[in-house]
Amino acid sequence: MTPNILTIAGSDPSGGAGIQADLKTFSALGGYGMSVLTALTAQATTGVTGVFPVPAEFVRAQLDTLLSDAKVDAVKIGMLGDTDVINAVASAIDDHGLHNVVLDPVMVAKSGDRLLAVEAIAAVRDQLVPRADLITPNLPESAELLGEDEVHDLPAMRAQAGRLLDIGAKRVLLKGGHLAGESSTDLLAEPGSSPQAFSAERLPTKNTHGTGCTLSSAIAALRPQRRDFYEAVREAKDYLTEALRYADDLNAGRGKGPVHH
Ligand code: PLP
Repeated sequence: MTPNILTIAGSDPSGGAGIQADLKTFSALGGYGMSVLTALTAQATTGVTGVFPVPAEFVRAQLDTLLSDAKVDAVKIGMLGDTDVINAVASAIDDHGLHNVVLDPVMVAKSGDRLLAVEAIAAVRDQLVPRADLITPNLPESAELLGEDEVHDLPAMRAQAGRLLDIGAKRVLLKGGHLAGESSTDLLAEPGSSPQAFSAERLPTKNTHGTGCTLSSAIAALRPQRRDFYEAVREAKDYLTEALRYADDLNAGRGKGPVHH
């Protein structure tokens, strides 16, 4: 049976990030995509010019209506915007017993535009990190969640992944794409075992918009179809590498374009 995969995230009209990237990824990886919108953005490959938030009550109404009808097999959470929306999503996870929840703690777009209010970071840490089955921070997001400096090497990444478990994360995929080097290494950490490293070649691609959205969505789509998170993450990384390899074939605008689904 085709698994139902839900994204709770913001819209990107350029189709490279947000719910548009999530739905393309779900379809490409054998899932049936569903979406609850948290915000509209006015956005192109050149950046974000505006954000129009969906009120928290209406985020909750979308979730309640959908989940009273459909069973979802995995959830990806992306851009949330503010504390009220975070609280609404956290209580919906409990009330509907959502499982296979992958949280991408989106804070700032590559263009530099903020997608999460600074004062909402604590709510992500306290309300969502412990409820998610996997969190997928990059290094700046990990530092923000922990209130620490950004780390710059693999040993420090291992230590920081451990501290994310200490604050209540059930599983962490700490993404090392911001480190210098010919390959890009991510660490999958779970309590009670040493972190597993996934390395991929670093491609000279110009178009990298939506990489984080794509990876977390690929993991959510694959998790119900694979034995465990390790297998889902391994294949999701391969999917992202191929999406990056062909990204420069796209002509979605003048700025940093999207990866190729
Ligand atoms: N727009 C939306 C709606 C997003 O959810 C995200 C990332 O999660 C972005 C933009 C940023 O994408 P990137 O930083 O890959 O350019």
